[in-house]
Amino acid sequence: MENKYDVAVVGAGILGLAIAYVAAKRGNKVVVFERSTKAMGASVRNFGLIWPIGQPSGAALNQALRTRTVWLQLAQEAGLPVEANGSLHLAYQEEEVAVLEEFMATTRDAGYQCTLLQPDEAVKFSPAVRTEGLKLAMHSGTELTVSTRQAIPLLADYLQKTYKVSFHYGTAITHVQPGFLSDFYEMYSAERIYICGGQDFETLYPAIFRESGITRCKLQMMRTGKQPNDWKLGASLCSGLTMRHYEAFAHCGSLAALDAYFEREMPEFGRWGIHVMLSQNAQGHLVIGDSHEYGLEQTPFNQEDVNQLILKYLKSFADFPDWEIAETWHGIYPTIPGKTKLVQEAANRVWIVNGLSGAGLTLSFGIAEDLI
Ligand SMILES: Cc1cc2nc3c(=O)[nH]c(=O)nc-3n(C[C@H](O)[C@H](O)[C@H](O)COP(=O)(O)OP(=O)(O)OC[C@H]3O[C@@H](n4cnc5c(N)ncnc54)[C@H](O)[C@@H]3O)c2cc1C
Repeated sequence: MENKYDVAVVGAGILGLAIAYVAAKRGNKVVVFERSTKAMGASVRNFGLIWPIGQPSGAALNQALRTRTVWLQLAQEAGLPVEANGSLHLAYQEEEVAVLEEFMATTRDAGYQCTLLQPDEAVKFSPAVRTEGLKLAMHSGTELTVSTRQAIPLLADYLQKTYKVSFHYGTAITHVQPGFLSDFYEMYSAERIYICGGQDFETLYPAIFRESGITRCKLQMMRTGKQPNDWKLGASLCSGLTMRHYEAFAHCGSLAALDAYFEREMPEFGRWGIHVMLSQNAQGHLVIGDSHEYGLEQTPFNQEDVNQLILKYLKSFADFPDWEIAETWHGIYPTIPGKTKLVQEAANRVWIVNGLSGAGLTLSFGIAEDLI
């Protein structure tokens, strides 16, 4: 009886925790299994950005805005470090200006909260904005920054204390069948099972992962130390490379000219899938990234020249007091070319939920609400 649950979740990353939260809130008895002694996957290796502005209008934007609401609630209820600091897209090239203007003109009633700003207005949202050559900025009010290294374990604690969710860390689930899971030694029963194993495609239902076309993306990241004198970034920053990266801008015809500009002027950035964002966590560190390398096999090694390219581009749009890099790392997320997620019933009442690419923090609670 002790091992009997309504809902079992495999993986204590943000997706597993979001599903556990929604299921427990709806009155289910929930258990979460995590192979590591604490979550160490993509969920604690990211920027911590809740980034609705990157999502295309419609269902995805709606899921992102609902996810945003839950993060803000959890900040209140569970004391998670979440800051509602918004974002700025900075345009230094005419091609970037054209994309921002087209985006604004074509998404008026879509639910974004954006305004175009002149340089003197943009600096009011962040002292890090480089104003030399800045032609236009787009401010968005919907972005949050979550300090995930603290927030993920705090959320798990909160689920355990407030909703009596059971957590089994250091427990790799090696076998699942409808109604049952096991970790080699123990059998657990659950009416519904959600497998949120991140980049582990090999242990559970490997054939489904193979057939889905899922692959891995490796991203190199850096952070500075705490900025001096309590210096605050304010809004998270990005520029033209990010306009090429997110689906929200994909409908803009003016993007073709921006692509051509980057391919002509900076082809090495495209080669490493670099687009550059700057966020600040609750400790005052600036978090900087990233590159995108795709493929099922990823080496454990980071490339310093890629980090240097990221910093070079960052210097074109941002400045701040202390540039010394205190830490570098990489994270890996699962992604399916041409798709935004993998949600599949692998067996009766057993679901695989995966493949959220670079938007897991931004979409998890919305996806969980729609799924449970
Ligand atoms: C560098 C980087 C930056 C990013 N920046 C952002 C951002 O700013 N905003 C955003 O929205 N998204 C961002 N993302 C994406 C986001 O981090 C991911 O989409 C999200 O963390 C995925 O969560 P997850 O729970 O699916 O996976 P994970 O966090 O990887 O968790 C999966 C967990 O499952 C466990 N597990 C696997 N198999 C088993 C098993 N058999 N038994 C038990 N446990 C198992 C693993 O140990 C792991 O802890 C970024 C990703 C990276 C890598």
